[in-house]
Amino acid sequence: MSFASLSLSDFLLRSLETLGYEEATPIQAAAIPVVLKGSDLLAAAQTGSGKTAAFSLPIIERLAGMEEQKAKPRFLVLVPTRELAVQVGAAIERYAEGAPRKARVLVAFGGVGYDAQMKAAYAGVEVVVATPGRLIDLAERRSVVLDEVEMLVLDEADRLLALGFAEELNTILEMLPEGRQNLLFSATFPQNVVSLANALLKDPVKIELEAASRPVESIAQRAIEVDGNSRTGLLRHLLETEGWERVLVFVGSKRRAENVTVKLQKHGIKAVALHGNMSQDKRARSLERFKQSKVRVLMATDVAARGIDIAGLPCVVNYDLPRSAADYVHRIGRTGRAGESGLAVNFITDDKDAHFRLIEKKNGLRLERERLEGFVPENWNPEDPAKGKAPVKGKRPSKKDKLRKAAAGKARGSGGNKDVSSPWARALRKATGEEG
Ligand code: AMP
Repeated sequence: MSFASLSLSDFLLRSLETLGYEEATPIQAAAIPVVLKGSDLLAAAQTGSGKTAAFSLPIIERLAGMEEQKAKPRFLVLVPTRELAVQVGAAIERYAEGAPRKARVLVAFGGVGYDAQMKAAYAGVEVVVATPGRLIDLAERRSVVLDEVEMLVLDEADRLLALGFAEELNTILEMLPEGRQNLLFSATFPQNVVSLANALLKDPVKIELEAASRPVESIAQRAIEVDGNSRTGLLRHLLETEGWERVLVFVGSKRRAENVTVKLQKHGIKAVALHGNMSQDKRARSLERFKQSKVRVLMATDVAARGIDIAGLPCVVNYDLPRSAADYVHRIGRTGRAGESGLAVNFITDDKDAHFRLIEKKNGLRLERERLEGFVPENWNPEDPAKGKAPVKGKRPSKKDKLRKAAAGKARGSGGNKDVSSPWARALRKATGEEG
């Protein structure tokens, strides 16, 4: 659908043209009219779907029609991480470039000093993009007063809750006025997100798009079996043979991020780390160097990489597997964005074989396992997923054991990389009363 048919102002259409956005993505086409109309919105969408513009364009459109507001913000966007805050703030400023007057946007996140953010807040802001903790700090100092907010956007609501922000969210909700518009975007719909949506939204319009709810199927995925201590070698081998321009590699710990980065550097591969123990400055620098293709490999932990948008990222590698099926979707969603093709490569060690099968099952996937010459595992002893933990000798199987066995049997029987209605799509339908 063209942006012109979405009742956006000419200055916005020009901005979008300059950015090379030819058509609205499905989430934009569905959400923009709803948001402009003033309805509450519940949307299943992840990074890569174009969700930022889906809420940012209506915000800018509404701002353009308002008197300049110097005192209190009218629009509040809550995000789970600093990186996402910076990214969303930058997107809003970019889209608003040709506006009749400059939008006053405050981007607020922790881990840096208060001075600059407080100064910006005192100068007057219309839109606040913030992580919850820092926003509360600023509100308690009365730098930001939230009682005239007209629209609240919860971006990546599942991550906000997964990162433990439930209490902060409640504190913020209490500061907001009644009668405002609320938008909730989430990639997944576990019970806590469903409860939040029910408590927050009034008669929301629900948007659940095919592509948004099943992103993993549009990304090519590989699963390579390898010994744990051969993974760095395998990564180097793939970097040498596959011609990937840039790779985002996920690891499970800060220490691993550092260690593997150093090992790659020793072999002349340009790599940097991105993890939570680094200062905000250092994290920003790593990300920037990677975005500008000055380094080829970004070794990142989940928290640090959450939500970051890197245009044209051809490949994501799971050096360590993610903890949950939802994290898998978030990670591989970094590649293949906005219609580009993408590749996700998973390193499977024997002790994580059963875990990966569970991730596949929950996402309705079944990937063919590969073994590469020179990296064939020498000790492949996967746990039998039907048994879970090794049974105690002589013990009769418990009810749980039997259930587990039945579930594993079913999983094995399902086969094929075929569509299974995704769990979060089902949860969304259930939450919204469309499924019993
Ligand atoms: P998001 O899902 O909001 O993080 O957006 C993912 C990427 O898609 C960003 O780099 C956007 O700049 C880009 N994008 C968003 N909407 C469009 C569009 N309609 N056409 C082309 N690119 C887009």
